[in-house]
Amino acid sequence: MIRAVVFDVGECLVDETTEYGTWADWLGVPRHTFHAMFGAVIAQGRDYREVFQEFQSDFDLYEQREKRAAAGKPEHFGEADLYADVRPALAQLRADGLWLGIAGNQTVRAGGILRELFTDDVDLIGTSDDWGASKPDPEFFRRVAKVTPFENDEILYVGDRVDNDIRPAVSAGMHTALVHRGPWATIQWRSEEAEKLPTFRVESLLELPTAIRKFNEQAR
Ligand SMILES: [Mg+2]
Repeated sequence: MIRAVVFDVGECLVDETTEYGTWADWLGVPRHTFHAMFGAVIAQGRDYREVFQEFQSDFDLYEQREKRAAAGKPEHFGEADLYADVRPALAQLRADGLWLGIAGNQTVRAGGILRELFTDDVDLIGTSDDWGASKPDPEFFRRVAKVTPFENDEILYVGDRVDNDIRPAVSAGMHTALVHRGPWATIQWRSEEAEKLPTFRVESLLELPTAIRKFNEQAR
């Protein structure tokens, strides 16, 4: 039985178009060019953060985040950056009696924004910076399991990346849903792992309530 649903953040709940567009602006690179190289780095199986070094070889993400904040242009996302299915999907899952969490590779600053946006909608919000462990580190998923009041095989982890979300969550003994959006899922969708590993492959988070209901009926 699936009793808890835990969501990744970037490209699962939050459309990062604004986020990376403003990074392109900060680098002084045309957005179209930055996004193309971003996809190329993912398709090459590299860490996406290497995209910054493609444009500025000595780029340090932590340092530049602080510089952006100091310049009054901090990384930011808000209600307008949420995918349109997020609010109705969370509401339906909660109405169905599922325990809900949000856990992703996020900064303390982003964790604060998430808490403002979702305080009343989920049972837990945890970030890699809070826990000192980032996906795909197994420790991240141990932390998710620890704060979720159910067994690992009663947790559904929902994310957009095979490498960071699906593969490590499956290794942790969780069920998974791969949502088909954002650069990673778009590039990885037809890979063997993307086809075989996830419990559910969905185009929208709105498919989850029905998928979970059917899964739990069969498990009974
Ligand atoms: Mg993501």
